Amino acid sequence: MKLSDININDLSPMMQQYAEIKNKYKDELLFFRLGDFYELFFEDADIASRELELTLTGKNAGLKERVPMCGVPHHSAKSYIEKLVNKGFHVAICEQLEDPKTTKNMVKRDVIEVLTKGTLVDLEFLNASDTNYIGSIIDFNYIYLITYTDISTGEINSVFVNHNNDSIINEVLNLNLKEMIIKEDFSLELINIFKNNYGININISNEELNDKFTSIYEDIDDERIIVGVKHVLYYLHIKQLKDLSHLSKLQIIKKDDYLRMDVHTIRNLELIETIRLKERKYSLIWLLDKTKTAPGARCLKNWLMNPLKDKNEIEKRYDYVDLLNNNFLEREQLRECLYEIYDLERLCGKVICGSLNARDLLQIKNSIKVIPIINEILKNIKYGVTVIEHKELYELLESAINEDAPISIKEGNLIKKGYSEELDELRSIRSGGKEFISNIEAQEKARTGIQNLKVGFNKVFGYYIEVTKGQIDKIDPSLGWERRQTLTGAERFITPELKEKEELILNAEEKINTLEYELFTEIRNIIKENIFKLKQTAQTIAEIDSLASLSVVSEEQHFIRPKLNNDNNINIIDGFHPVVKVVSNQEYINNDIIMDKNKTTLLITGPNMSGKSTYMRQLAITAILAQTGSFVPASHAELPIFDSIFTRIGASDDLVSGESTFMVEMLEAKNAICNATKNSLILFDELGRGTSTFDGMSLARAILEYVNTSIGCKTLFSTHYHELTDLENKYQSIKNVHVDAIEENGNITFLHKVLPGSVSKSYGIHVAKLAGMPEELLKRADEFLSYYENESKNKNESVMSEQIAFNLDEKQDNELEDFVKSIDPLSISPLEAINILFKIKEISNKK
Ligand code: ADP
Repeated sequence: MKLSDININDLSPMMQQYAEIKNKYKDELLFFRLGDFYELFFEDADIASRELELTLTGKNAGLKERVPMCGVPHHSAKSYIEKLVNKGFHVAICEQLEDPKTTKNMVKRDVIEVLTKGTLVDLEFLNASDTNYIGSIIDFNYIYLITYTDISTGEINSVFVNHNNDSIINEVLNLNLKEMIIKEDFSLELINIFKNNYGININISNEELNDKFTSIYEDIDDERIIVGVKHVLYYLHIKQLKDLSHLSKLQIIKKDDYLRMDVHTIRNLELIETIRLKERKYSLIWLLDKTKTAPGARCLKNWLMNPLKDKNEIEKRYDYVDLLNNNFLEREQLRECLYEIYDLERLCGKVICGSLNARDLLQIKNSIKVIPIINEILKNIKYGVTVIEHKELYELLESAINEDAPISIKEGNLIKKGYSEELDELRSIRSGGKEFISNIEAQEKARTGIQNLKVGFNKVFGYYIEVTKGQIDKIDPSLGWERRQTLTGAERFITPELKEKEELILNAEEKINTLEYELFTEIRNIIKENIFKLKQTAQTIAEIDSLASLSVVSEEQHFIRPKLNNDNNINIIDGFHPVVKVVSNQEYINNDIIMDKNKTTLLITGPNMSGKSTYMRQLAITAILAQTGSFVPASHAELPIFDSIFTRIGASDDLVSGESTFMVEMLEAKNAICNATKNSLILFDELGRGTSTFDGMSLARAILEYVNTSIGCKTLFSTHYHELTDLENKYQSIKNVHVDAIEENGNITFLHKVLPGSVSKSYGIHVAKLAGMPEELLKRADEFLSYYENESKNKNESVMSEQIAFNLDEKQDNELEDFVKSIDPLSISPLEAINILFKIKEISNKK
């Protein structure tokens, strides 16, 4: 049954209220609060019951048929909402805006918030080391603008992106946008790619928010950027009803300030997740992240994804790492303090637009508690930075919030004794009252002589005296008791005295809860006033935490401080791939990478599995680490500052679907060739292998020549086309190196050592043997290889093919001959004879 098919006037009054609200939130699943439950009706109920595996029931709504309904308890709704939001649904939370106890009419209800993937603020739903961005993309026809924010932390940024599909897709994927807001005229092709290939939530909204939260963009002159901000703000504030007063001032991200890496590079180098399992474990960030706080983890990841280009900025980070290395005892004390700090950034976000509770306030308190100690340590080691301390806030929280406060903020027990006189008074009435009640029990026992008499409490009758049936005759009317309830074995009574005290106690209880809530709200408002300072603290802590992490890793992994140069000189001694070294169960063989300013390309040959790609990745990772401000994996390292890194390694996902693997390979190579400058780094791993030998080899050669003559950037090029190694003689800028291996009795041993010169064998069959291919097949492959090797000296490919074809024919002739010889005409039946004829025909057809 659909809501749109029925006449709203036929519905009961409450369901009419539902229908009116639902009609405003057609695209959302409406969680409609009814007492202790959130209920969903009509189509929403069908969807939610299917997605959440809830029982679909029905509700009498004034119609002939019951309307579909399902619901979840209010107290456990969070996990259900999270499930739906993660599946891409939008959820509108409709609350009761009045206390049902105090209103005689129907309770007012309205939506207080809309929750979607990109706008979650609850710490439980979010991955602590990841940002959660929602972004607007505006198409200015010649350029795109992305304005993106993480409302759980209050960060808001904008970045201009070149007007082509590759660039915008790249940027959106690198930012890991969870949700996107676009205007109606946005490219349909891109919408489909974002939605279908990458599962990004897309919202269409044309409006902009004027005159509110203007401080976010008050320093910005560029009208286009202001349009972008207002576009995001409208969607978040008007459509999703979010309070955005905690958003920071807008930061304009200038792509030119950072080392450029496209999505392929980030994936191929496994910076944040591994290629195969898409897991953080065994990625570079996994090795690098020894942070103790969630903002620290996010900051470090952001640094790694955006390495710097400014030498002074980079050196500044090295200086901090050096300082922390030289004061490792203090660094460890510092990290112990950092460990005590909760996710201050997101707690600040929760203060403004989440359901902050007293436990969150305790987390804020415990986080700021350690700051004075942190400052002391920083002072001792002459770090040169001081963290804002928030002493008053600490004292306020320390004096106000109960250490064992519950999650609920409406049921009391939030505020400490001594914080509010009024509260303490009410509490003493309550406890005094309780004492009084137990005195009544003793008093009535004495008056009646009934020793098993009890004073009890229930919600319907309040306080009562309970007497078992056997003792009833001891109750004299002169006692002034009034009968209230009859049970099977007992009677319950009340007395005027009991009722009088009861009112006082119950009143006190209610007043306490209200007052505690008021005090809590006051404290929350004080935190709100301090929000920007608290965020600043979180930011400073995040940076210190990231630098401490880089320091720890440099020590644990034996990294050294690199020397940055301006003369395009790479001189890495004993370099290693830090993750392969840690993960591999074999000894890692360190390698030098030496390319002075006149050498731009290393042409790398060597067997499969010998370590060519690892060697290439090693250089890229070393460069990225160096520009992140980290020390690097080597015993000595001199490096230039690169402006971008391009990689074409292994199989990769295509950005625009429907392309063949070879096409994707060519697209990525084109991307590198067209965008690289002489200050870039390119890694090409076995370029051209996706097509026929001569085709691929020709392309590879042309690309190598082009990169050397027209771009002149540092390039590592691995290949199995040994013919290409002749280029060393033609171009002074190209140098051959190879990865060493030895062959003994048909078995190969990889030495993983990179040496000057080239090799002319790929040992593919040896690797196939290692992989456990059938013996027979390997033997055959060896035969083919011998033909190629013997013939290649003086014959071209077509002649070789003929030769092989001839030999294949010969083999088939032998097969036929062998088969005919095996037939014994005297012992076969007519049916077998027919089968033999078919078999002979099959063998000759193969020919
Ligand atoms: P190729 O690109 O030549 O096929 P890879 O670079 O993929 O080879 O390396 C294959 C494996 O060899 C790696 O997974 C790693 O375990 C090991 N390896 C590579 N380089 C080294 C090295 N320098 N020292 C030790 N093991 C290495």
